Amino acid sequence: AASLLLAGCASTTATTEETSAATEETSAAAPRACVILPDADAGTRWETGDRPALEAGLTAAGFEADIQNALADTAKFATIADAQLAQGCGVMVLVDYQGAGVAVAEKAKAAGVPVIAYDRPIAGADYYVSFDNFTVGALQGQMIVDGLAAAGKDITTASIIYSSGDPADGNAAMFLDGALSVLDAAGAKAAFTMEGTWDGAKAGTLFEQAFTAVGGKVDAVLAPNDNNAASIIAILDKNGLTVPVSGQDASTAGLQNVLLGKQYGTVYKPFSVEVDAALTVINALLTGGTVEANKTLEDGTPYIAVDPIIVTADKVKDVVANGDASAADLCTAE
Ligand code: BGC
Repeated sequence: AASLLLAGCASTTATTEETSAATEETSAAAPRACVILPDADAGTRWETGDRPALEAGLTAAGFEADIQNALADTAKFATIADAQLAQGCGVMVLVDYQGAGVAVAEKAKAAGVPVIAYDRPIAGADYYVSFDNFTVGALQGQMIVDGLAAAGKDITTASIIYSSGDPADGNAAMFLDGALSVLDAAGAKAAFTMEGTWDGAKAGTLFEQAFTAVGGKVDAVLAPNDNNAASIIAILDKNGLTVPVSGQDASTAGLQNVLLGKQYGTVYKPFSVEVDAALTVINALLTGGTVEANKTLEDGTPYIAVDPIIVTADKVKDVVANGDASAADLCTAE
């Protein structure tokens, strides 16, 4: 397996460019951007990807960035928000954790602070800034279609296990809707549908149950992100199976599994692109302007949806070239 990884690694660019340090504007009047991230779980993107990108982007735009993490705790989410609002926020940028963002958005708005629902939808936010999450799901469905075709399997009779993200995250339904739009059209049917979760360890347990339920016959797995996929792949490995598995986030583990041929692909969502979209919105909100949204959520929230990118093994080098993965990290053969 290690040699496969290294073979894929041969095509990656050996050098990565450090993004230039943001020039800090230390004006006393710097408005505070109050940011709350949802969790710091191993394998998730928030601390490793979003925090540095938000910190750099907000600072370069002249904000004092107060970025905190709710550590998968809805009560902590509320406590952090209260403290931030007490100190004063020019804008709140919230990544929801299991609905905790709704009450916080309401409080912020009541205090005259504009709210951006960042990456995950929050009812009552001024804007929702994220990737086009229906498209994210459609790309995941396409990975299953393409992966089964490459394996020479008929998708209409294939045994596919469907899994999805935490239903308390509004994104999960969008990802699944997008995936189903492609899978249904291709005539795919779920042999088993797992309970949705973002918890990697739990995804492993749920997949083990699914695996037993289908009698060990698995031709493909629709996985909602790289973290879930990694746990699922560990169990497939244990059972000597290599089948198309989808993913999302272009995480180090995900890209490694793609290079190893254990995951068909991942959905790359550059953090800097999402931060730039948020900055455009923040700028408009603070200057009394508006931003034309390309989508609208069901509850009417304007949705700035940027484009996600599918990454299969031959495209991993693009993520490295972009500076969002390091060849050194990816090519650490185990
Ligand atoms: C994000 C994904 C992430 C997942 C779990 C979703 O809301 O859009 O990028 O993998 O949460 O953290």
